[in-house]
Amino acid sequence: MKKVHIFNAGPCALPQQAIDRAREALLDFKGTGMSVIEISHRTKEWESVMDECRALWKELLDIPDTHEVVFLGGGASLGFLYVAMNFLGKKAAYLETGVWAKKAYKEAKGLGEAVSVASSADGNFCYIPKGYEIPADADYFHITTNNTIYGTEIREDLDSPVPLIADMSSDIMSRPVDVSKYDLIYGGAQKNVGPAGVTFFIVRKDALGKVGRYIPTMLDLRTHVDGGSMFNTPPVFAIYVMTETLRWVKEQGGVAAIEQRNIRKAETLYAEIDRNPLFVGTAAKEDRSRMNVCFVMAPGHEDLEAEFLSFSKSKGMVGLKGHRSVGGFRASIYNACSQEDVDALVAVMKEFEQLHK
Ligand SMILES: *Cc1c(COP(=O)(O)O)cnc(C)c1O
Repeated sequence: MKKVHIFNAGPCALPQQAIDRAREALLDFKGTGMSVIEISHRTKEWESVMDECRALWKELLDIPDTHEVVFLGGGASLGFLYVAMNFLGKKAAYLETGVWAKKAYKEAKGLGEAVSVASSADGNFCYIPKGYEIPADADYFHITTNNTIYGTEIREDLDSPVPLIADMSSDIMSRPVDVSKYDLIYGGAQKNVGPAGVTFFIVRKDALGKVGRYIPTMLDLRTHVDGGSMFNTPPVFAIYVMTETLRWVKEQGGVAAIEQRNIRKAETLYAEIDRNPLFVGTAAKEDRSRMNVCFVMAPGHEDLEAEFLSFSKSKGMVGLKGHRSVGGFRASIYNACSQEDVDALVAVMKEFEQLHK
């Protein structure tokens, strides 16, 4: 049983059930007498996990037949390069909404012409730029739907004149997505769907193979679509835990039901931040993320920051320190974070307020 309330930004809290099942599989995988990390990935026992994982992704996100989902290593950070390698022909367009968005943009600049359509760097990325124009001659438009560090989120599946590509590392499976609107959705699993070590790519199959360049075999998404994510040894343990995490999502009623829980959790926490005179939110209200809730001490109370961190820690709250580029606090309330975890944090904020009345 967990004795702490985990608000880590990533790797993050996972469903207890997924961790328990992973422990069982680590000791004896499906009655084979072997651990899941000892068995060959070319066995029917393993392939059934792979098939189930793929099927759960397709079912939970309603992925159309035009798209395939593949699981690779390398993290979302290598994903930035996959994007440029596989989709950048002449020109790419990026929306700069934070550090991760900028890192994605950098990889494209290394391979061809890339333009920034708009940036919120002037406001330390505390909002999502609006009213920008997407160049019609771009091969794709890249967005980061949830800005993990700053707590802003784009929840709308944008209408784009060019193919849309999204880094959804930190809000995948938190709400339904119209996958048909994207040529690629990718991200690291460790924010919302599993442990670190596996990266997901949901790709429109007929969008691949359009660029002229030589793509190294391992960086060519076609290799992995054709190989069923088994061109080389997949990260088996991470995929196993991800499969158990997705089973849990399904048992919760699927992504639409999870979204309702996420809405309630976020509303609870933002309501307390807005009510409590000691705290203030950092993200623009209309762009607030449901996954990463960023806040600081209110003006005049800045000197209480370290005290609130140690106070909340003494009450079992883990991972509340904000990213160094924003400061203050960040509560990451991904799928596996419960309403009880959020309620416990709110109670601690109220108690802290009373201490300083
Ligand atoms: C964490 C994160 C990344 C980087 O993920 P890695 O798997 O560590 O490379 C990229 N984009 C976003 C939005 C993230 O939150």
